[in-house]
Amino acid sequence: SLTVEQVKEMIVQVAYGIIQREPELTAIDRKVGDGDHGIGMKIGFERVVEELNIQNFSDVGSVFQVTAKTMLNSMGGASGVLFASLFLGVFKTSKYKKELNTTDLANGLAKSVEDIEKKGGASVGDKTMLDALEPAVTSLMSNKNLDLELALSDGTKAAKKGLEQTKKYVAKFGRAKNLGSRTIGYQDAGATSVYFILYEMLRFIQ
Ligand code: ADP
Ligand code: MG
Ligand code: MG
Repeated sequence: SLTVEQVKEMIVQVAYGIIQREPELTAIDRKVGDGDHGIGMKIGFERVVEELNIQNFSDVGSVFQVTAKTMLNSMGGASGVLFASLFLGVFKTSKYKKELNTTDLANGLAKSVEDIEKKGGASVGDKTMLDALEPAVTSLMSNKNLDLELALSDGTKAAKKGLEQTKKYVAKFGRAKNLGSRTIGYQDAGATSVYFILYEMLRFIQ
């Protein structure tokens, strides 16, 4: 498990991982959307780094809460709400906790999937961030007894598989929806971000 300080450092690493990949995320969203995904994520995570660096945290939950709130306030649009929900789910299961373990992360991200489905109306196969997040959650839920590194290693692989699947799907939500079957052959931008988020969490722990 990770301490509160390690969780904060992990999210900062996730933030830099996304900021660094802004051109790649933008290029993907330009092919199958309106080309703003990388920019939105970069703006959100730059503000997250600032907030995490100036605040003191006494529990794991508040690190995730501040991350979510900051993204919500700085990104705007549908993806701001949806990516904030990803972090808010883990806040809900790690409130007042001094450590983050596999069970809390698994249950938290399961909550995130539920909330994102409720808010956005999409489900697996609609070419969205859920296509990477949902398989990762399924994997994490079945590995609750493993340590965080092993569980996240499996979960990240599952997310990557899910991301690859998005190339076959027709976009049903977001700006990409307007392009319909022209989105076949290209991976989803939001699912790519989800994969990078998990990949950077894993890299931090390794
Ligand atoms: P926008 O589509 O408003 O330009 P972004 O480009 O920032 O927003 O984000 C697009 C990504 O958001 C998509 O690639 C998809 O993964 C995700 N997304 C969009 N709508 C939904 C939804 N209803 N449910 C889940 N994810 C969604
Ligand atoms: Mg877009
Ligand atoms: Mg847009």
